[in-house]
Amino acid sequence: MTRDPRIVIIGAGPTGLGAGYRLQELGYGDWVMLEANDYVGGLATSFTDEAGFTWDIGGHVMFSHYPYYDELVDRLMGDQYSTLHREAWVWMENRFIPYPFQNNIGGLEPQTVYECLTGAIRAARDAGATTPANFREWVLATMGQGIADHFMIPYNYKVWATPAEQMSFNWIGERVSVVDVEDLLRNVLFDKPEKQWGPNSTFKYPLHGGTGFLYDGMRKFVEDHLELNCAVVSVDPVAKVVRTDDGRDFNYDVLLSTMPLNKLIRVTESPPTAVVEATKGLVFSGSHIVGIGVDRPVDSDKNWIYFPEPDVPFYRVTYLSNYSPYLTAKHGQFSLLTETSHSSYKAEDPATIVDRVVDGLVTTGLLRESDRELIVSRWRCSPAMTYPVPSVGRDAALGTIQPWLRDHDIWSRGRFGGWLYEIGNMDHSCMQGVEFVNAVVHGEPETVWIPRGEGAAGQGIR
Ligand SMILES: Cc1cc2nc3c(=O)[nH]c(=O)nc-3n(C[C@H](O)[C@H](O)[C@H](O)COP(=O)(O)OP(=O)(O)OC[C@H]3O[C@@H](n4cnc5c(N)ncnc54)[C@H](O)[C@@H]3O)c2cc1C
Repeated sequence: MTRDPRIVIIGAGPTGLGAGYRLQELGYGDWVMLEANDYVGGLATSFTDEAGFTWDIGGHVMFSHYPYYDELVDRLMGDQYSTLHREAWVWMENRFIPYPFQNNIGGLEPQTVYECLTGAIRAARDAGATTPANFREWVLATMGQGIADHFMIPYNYKVWATPAEQMSFNWIGERVSVVDVEDLLRNVLFDKPEKQWGPNSTFKYPLHGGTGFLYDGMRKFVEDHLELNCAVVSVDPVAKVVRTDDGRDFNYDVLLSTMPLNKLIRVTESPPTAVVEATKGLVFSGSHIVGIGVDRPVDSDKNWIYFPEPDVPFYRVTYLSNYSPYLTAKHGQFSLLTETSHSSYKAEDPATIVDRVVDGLVTTGLLRESDRELIVSRWRCSPAMTYPVPSVGRDAALGTIQPWLRDHDIWSRGRFGGWLYEIGNMDHSCMQGVEFVNAVVHGEPETVWIPRGEGAAGQGIR
């Protein structure tokens, strides 16, 4: 091809914006970004409600694995950010224990400690005896029965809204702290909490405008090529034309799609039966994100709390106003951001969720009974798709779908475009967009997105 390939990008979330930013940086001319919403940012958008409280679509903690992304964030935030030291806790048996649970069981009831310890010791003794076939088996083999029963299985069901035996465990990497029996014993005997585990023990947060401030800030770099209110309704992979809901056609040589992969296949003309069938292996859950703003000063320095027990609907609550003093309507107020998952396995009535969340906050002591009168904001946002579930059939499905798309010069990337939770955070997503451009323009191999399933080796750069 003698001219530059024409690039069309579906979606102006972090992945699409990352690609657009990189294209502008390279001075690339022939591209357009089509976004269904009238705003940019996708799932990383923030909203300020009528009461003046700013909310994210669930707790968004920013931690990066990539220097390019770090520099971009620094450029976008300047000195307008706060630096936070993670205060993450688990609420169970009517008390707080430090996160991660599996390293900090010492403060629980003696019977629970006993079950967790004996289970972990047995699991360590039998290590390697069996090969786990799914996430449940992996938890049992790695952490033992006690930790599985008391935390890992109930908590993960609340997060994923998917039974653990239907999930794989190849996503775990740095996402789950594994158990070290010696650390467990030290914690139980000497009551030494282990709080610094994991990649996000310190993190930055924008002072103003929530997480979405970052992506709103990227808009100016892509504005010239951005079409908002412009939903893609069909893709012709042979003629290489994308059609939008306002009846316009956009020709492409290379298409970057960040819309959910199952929906992309649904709007694509005449995909092979095997590809359509494979989309049945793509499992997802949605969320009810409920924000509660309270008209009194905060009485906690916690960042977020996990809730494994079934008596409250949410699996996580974030003290969002502890991230920045500018997220409430007035000083002297605080805000709690709660996340409740739902799926075909786990129904959560949207009509009652806000009331149930408030009741749960009172039950667990995050709100006082008297705070009910002081609630000045009740915000709800219920995206249908929030977590791409690493299901047991996922990689086989991706191994069928992605190579077929690439044969038609379609790159499906990002949280639901790639359908890979393990690289579904903001930094991963943004970098998948950047690396898409580096691959198309400079022929550089991708490093963040990695092919999965059969034929994985043939899905890279070509
Ligand atoms: C509850 C929750 C908690 C999270 N917590 C964290 C966290 O702590 N840390 C972190 O780094 N990340 C977190 N994330 C992930 C983060 O939100 C994602 O990494 C990021 O939003 C993914 O960007 P994306 O562009 O791939 O997808 P999206 O943000 O989903 O953007 C896709 C875009 O495509 C558009 N689109 C869809 N269909 C069409 C169509 N047909 N035509 C045109 N446009 C279309 C959408 O409107 C959207 O704007 C969290 C996400 C959720 C939901």
